[in-house]
Amino acid sequence: MPRQLFVTTALPYANGNFHIGHIMEYIQADIWVRFQRMQGHQVNFVCADDTHGAPIMIAAEKAGKTPQQFVADIAAGRKPYLDGFHISFDNWHSTDAPENHDLARQIYCDLRDIPESEGGSLIARKTIEQFFDPAKNMFLPDRFIQGECPKCHAKNQYGDNCEVCGAVYAPTDLIDPVSVLSGVRPELKSSEHFFFKLSDPRCVEFLQKWTQDGRLQPEVANKVKEWFSVRSNPDGSTSEGLGDWDISRDAPYFGIEIPDAPGKYFYVWLDAPVGYLASLKNLLDKRGQDYTAYMAQPGLEQYHFIGKDIVTFHT
Ligand SMILES: [Zn+2]
Repeated sequence: MPRQLFVTTALPYANGNFHIGHIMEYIQADIWVRFQRMQGHQVNFVCADDTHGAPIMIAAEKAGKTPQQFVADIAAGRKPYLDGFHISFDNWHSTDAPENHDLARQIYCDLRDIPESEGGSLIARKTIEQFFDPAKNMFLPDRFIQGECPKCHAKNQYGDNCEVCGAVYAPTDLIDPVSVLSGVRPELKSSEHFFFKLSDPRCVEFLQKWTQDGRLQPEVANKVKEWFSVRSNPDGSTSEGLGDWDISRDAPYFGIEIPDAPGKYFYVWLDAPVGYLASLKNLLDKRGQDYTAYMAQPGLEQYHFIGKDIVTFHT
């Protein structure tokens, strides 16, 4: 029996031009895919542009383009490389495509609407305080805030960690914080965010089993084991186990609007991995094949070629 293989490479983030680091991963994956095809196995090898998030919105604004136009221009520059290196993708799509909007919303709604009889919703709402740029009129991602490290007092450090002493902290710990976008001092402002309840016992139990049953390579399985023990928080405290995951961002944001929540968007890392499925669905639709039936095959194997820095989000 031929194996059914669904294979992906990491989606290139479309805030900058295609480069040698991308093509290196694609060549490795392509060699593996070609080998599987030569064995007679059936492979769907797909990728997509990772289009959403604040960095792309900001890069597009700087370039004087809409985010859509900015991403389209980056994408147009990639084709000669894929063709030139003979990378044998079956499909290339976009996380801004309708399939991805639909699938991301569907997955969210399925988690939100779990009936009480099955344990209840896995989505929670909490009000959090965040830095807000009053000149740009937007909430600031950690990487768009700079200031003095609270530990070693190095200047111009990012809002999430210090590149001089390695300290990890919250942006609110920075001394004399400034917005990288406008240079003004950000203000603290509260906003309601949506969280995926990863700390729920159903998720913990599922993930613990799922990550340790042999499907992940040992290096990755060992790395993610850390989630289930002691975790250090940005404020220096530690807590046990998985924390809930903040999956929303406030407008203005280039992304997928959350159903029944005007002005709230999915954080890019929510919809980016769903983009693999969207690209696969787009491919199967073009061929007249049924996506749901394909995904439901008990023998279907999924392989993601990724770098270790994005293991957490993928798992
Ligand atoms: Zn420091």
